[in-house]
Amino acid sequence: MVARFGGDEFAVLSEHLTRREDAADLAERINRTLAEPFTFAGQEIHVSASIGIAVTDDPLTNAEVLLRDADAAMFESKDHCRGGGGYQFFTTAVREQAVSRLAVETELRQALGRGEFRLVYEPVYDLRRRRPVGMEALIRWRHRHRGLLAPADFIEVAEDTGLIIPIGRWVLSEACRTLARWNRLRGSEKPGFTMAVNLSARQISDPTLVGDVADVLHRFDVEPRRLCLEVTETAVHDAPLSADGVLGGLSALGVRIALDDFGTGYSSLRHLRRVPVDILKIDRMFVNGLDQPGEDRAIIGAVIAMAHSLGMTTVGEGIETEAQYAQLLELGCDLGQGYLLSQPLPPEQFADIYVGA
Ligand code: C2E
Ligand code: MG
Ligand code: MG
Repeated sequence: MVARFGGDEFAVLSEHLTRREDAADLAERINRTLAEPFTFAGQEIHVSASIGIAVTDDPLTNAEVLLRDADAAMFESKDHCRGGGGYQFFTTAVREQAVSRLAVETELRQALGRGEFRLVYEPVYDLRRRRPVGMEALIRWRHRHRGLLAPADFIEVAEDTGLIIPIGRWVLSEACRTLARWNRLRGSEKPGFTMAVNLSARQISDPTLVGDVADVLHRFDVEPRRLCLEVTETAVHDAPLSADGVLGGLSALGVRIALDDFGTGYSSLRHLRRVPVDILKIDRMFVNGLDQPGEDRAIIGAVIAMAHSLGMTTVGEGIETEAQYAQLLELGCDLGQGYLLSQPLPPEQFADIYVGA
């Protein structure tokens, strides 16, 4: 029996399997079938599934428990195999994962009200002048018991639960408030900073985002071109087509759009046409590769040339060594950020070092 379970979730009930391997075979067959591209409205469409498997031979196990376990295993499969195409059996380790996920979810719901989120700011440099021209806001969660948590520890849960929407609103507003304050402090003789804020797939699928951004810009009197909104290729890929309208709306406000982690996600040059991209951020993985012999230098060179011919600005991410800096500069990369220049800093520290400078 195959049933749509809600949203993009489907359940398959198979009562005639005798061995675990049969369930694995079935999952592989489903994934293989789904992997075949098909054409819809003139576009080639690729879909994939993350499959969780729960098995029982106990007649007392009810449907609710089986579905819950399969659901937890499905999340596990999603984690292991980003982009789908994998499957995972339910195990006790999966149960523990699910319990900890639930704990994060519960606490995440309260964190915003308790004011537990912080933003740290990573300076972005003009590589040629070696001078900061702006910063990227990065979220941190000051957890009551677990200390300071990085986005990797909670952003995915925030996405899956939709909590990213209110959290994202807070990030946007806090970042713009800070930007306005710092640019005021810098005065009109010094060039203003630009603030970059990260958006998730869920946020760019939310049609109220354009209005929210317009409101925040107005509330803090921030020039639209001083705000840069970063989306990853994967987020653009995962978001429904309506996201194109949202990104178009943002671009029409005069806000800049950056394609983050370029070259790592579902890279498709098609995204560059679909989305109004102003800035390409070359992922740390390639910048890192500049230290070893290999093709990364050629790839970065080609990406920069392509970006420039499309009128885009390029940013090198995760610069850790002088050698990487020098090579990016030589390849014509415009901006850069990374631990060589500075770690992400709490606002007080950022202001001390950069705002007066
Ligand atoms: P990202 O936007 O690509 O941000 C850059 C990440 O690389 C940051 O990690 C930063 O601390 C780290 N980084 C910077 N320079 C270096 C370096 O030289 N070496 C190394 N090894 N790492 C460096 P962080 O803060 O953990 O953020 C991870 C990701 O989480 C971000 O990647 C972004 O995609 C996401 N994120 C952060 N803040 C937010 C937010 O407010 N909303 C959403 N939706 N996502 C966020
Ligand atoms: Mg970013
Ligand atoms: Mg990045």
